Amino acid sequence: MKKEANFHNKAITNTSQSPYVKLKSINFGDCIWNSGFWAEKVKSAEEHMLPYMGDLLCGDIGHALNNFKIAAGEKEGEHKGFYWHDGDFYKFMEAKTYIYALTKDKDILKELDDYIALISRAQEEDGYIHTYIQITEDADRFENRKYHEMYNFGHLFIAASIHYRMTGHRNFLDIALKQADLLYTYFMPDTKHYQRFGFNQTQIMGLVELYRTVKDRKYLKLAEKFINRRGTFEIKHDSTTEGYPIGDMVQERTPLRESEEAVGHAVLALYYYAGAADVYAETGEKALIDALDKLWENVTGKKMYVTGAVGQAHYGASTNLDMIEEGFIDAYMMPNMTAYNETCANLCNAMFSSRMMGIKDESRYADIIELVLYNSGLSGISLGGTEYFYSNPLRMVNNSRNYDSHADVTESPVRQPYLECFCCPPNLVRTICKSSGWAYNLSKNGVAVVLFGSNDLDTTMLDGSTLKLSQDTDYPWKGLVKITVNECKDSEFEIKVRIPKWAVGSTLKINDEDAPVEVVPGTFAVVNRKWKAGDTIALDMPMNVMRLEGHNRIEETRNQIAVKRGPILYCLETPDLPENTSILNAYIKGNAEFKAVHKPGFLNGVTVVETELLLREDRNDEMYQAISKPEFKSYETQLVPYFAWSNRGQAEMTVFIPVVWNSK
Ligand SMILES: [Zn+2]
Repeated sequence: MKKEANFHNKAITNTSQSPYVKLKSINFGDCIWNSGFWAEKVKSAEEHMLPYMGDLLCGDIGHALNNFKIAAGEKEGEHKGFYWHDGDFYKFMEAKTYIYALTKDKDILKELDDYIALISRAQEEDGYIHTYIQITEDADRFENRKYHEMYNFGHLFIAASIHYRMTGHRNFLDIALKQADLLYTYFMPDTKHYQRFGFNQTQIMGLVELYRTVKDRKYLKLAEKFINRRGTFEIKHDSTTEGYPIGDMVQERTPLRESEEAVGHAVLALYYYAGAADVYAETGEKALIDALDKLWENVTGKKMYVTGAVGQAHYGASTNLDMIEEGFIDAYMMPNMTAYNETCANLCNAMFSSRMMGIKDESRYADIIELVLYNSGLSGISLGGTEYFYSNPLRMVNNSRNYDSHADVTESPVRQPYLECFCCPPNLVRTICKSSGWAYNLSKNGVAVVLFGSNDLDTTMLDGSTLKLSQDTDYPWKGLVKITVNECKDSEFEIKVRIPKWAVGSTLKINDEDAPVEVVPGTFAVVNRKWKAGDTIALDMPMNVMRLEGHNRIEETRNQIAVKRGPILYCLETPDLPENTSILNAYIKGNAEFKAVHKPGFLNGVTVVETELLLREDRNDEMYQAISKPEFKSYETQLVPYFAWSNRGQAEMTVFIPVVWNSK
């Protein structure tokens, strides 16, 4: 029997009714990681990451819950944390909600209900909720965009939509709708003061998600309005903009539909683009998707690191010479040591790509999701789950960064147990918690296998029929992925299997025979047939260790290589060098042999790459000096996954290693 029509209304990003999305999201919970890499990460999120984070945010260090108590008049004290701290607490709640959805643990539901009740008591009569503005005397609502009201609201809208979808309870959703209705009254009319407002615009994604939740089109209209207005005002400071750079920094110099280059703060940019993709998913406006195509190509083709990270510089300038913080600079300008690469920005890159994949039905977008998840996303948290990186550079050299633990916690040489700017940790943990929701998508008459990892899928196809699959694999350490059909309809449908772009030479077998389709890296291999229970698909991806080089316009990687195996980037870390040897003295032979070795007891179980390095013995500590052929000493060692670096004490690290091609 067919189930109700709107059977995918519990998706993370609910595209079930979005007319311009070709690959729809599955309900969260339809796919469960059952063992292996992501199952272990989700378990760690449940048992270590979230309890620790809860202690921080609900205690006096994180102070996020205290802020709500003070705003509700239930506690004395001052607001602590940055302006956007509420938003980071909502992300923590969103992560908890995913764990509730997976475990149905009533204690989690009760904990969330307690937070929601407090937030409700802190919310003003007219719907406004922003603890900094409410508690402090120095700012009024919607007077200065630097207070990140839109960011906090956006995360409220998203977390509340997720809570409603996973629990069926309206308590959080009602708070969000009240705030959204208030936003509508301020920002829908063309009042000059409010027209340029908006910083870190997660409210666009959030409003679209509210529209998808309650079907009231005014939220979609408001989301669209925020896009339409941007870039229509003279770029000079006014009373609403003081306190942060303007222009390209906040993507307001060029209207989105005319944009061809990703500019400004990388998190702001990518939340904005992801929100615009959500609007396109509902409206189908060509000018919007044409611009998003160009922006995605620009980000991933000209400004992205080999780890999937984005936002090259802490401070810099756009090509229009607007000052930029934590953001994009020129194409191909990719410093390793000073790379900023905020964890949030990297995750936003995946969020933007996940939306584009749904819209376009192309697997290359999912390659970016995977690249981020295994590398520049996961590098943001320690293996123990309780220490965080904000910035994710590709090279770390002792004393190379202008790091002062009191002044700026964002560029730390080791992961920190708390970041005063706490946006990244809950963003990463919610992403880990929801990762199974990204594993599959549904096509008109089929299913797309997007991410690999042992899991069980029990979902409803878009025609209402039941589909059950299981995936069995040791990915990312091994390249064999075995998919078994456990239950399906009698008629033909397609199973689309993502062939990663790096997976050259992959084979695809159906019931042990070559699949009758071309297997092209960077595309979906689409097998359309009558499936039956017990059918198997075996995708075998060669897990050769690859040498990667950068585009020849990237000066910072010239004559250096990065080592990658499958989706995992590797790095060299000083614990794997002789004592007192700097990472800067390490070179690699062009013809070095690589041996992948799985070490179950090392760094929570990783595959390392064993190889021979060349260590330079002579000194080069002057600014410039004469040189003849340097002296090298051979050294057998290992490279470790980039995401797992900095788990053996403070260390130097590099992804790119200078190569000596002619060495014997
Ligand atoms: Zn962040």
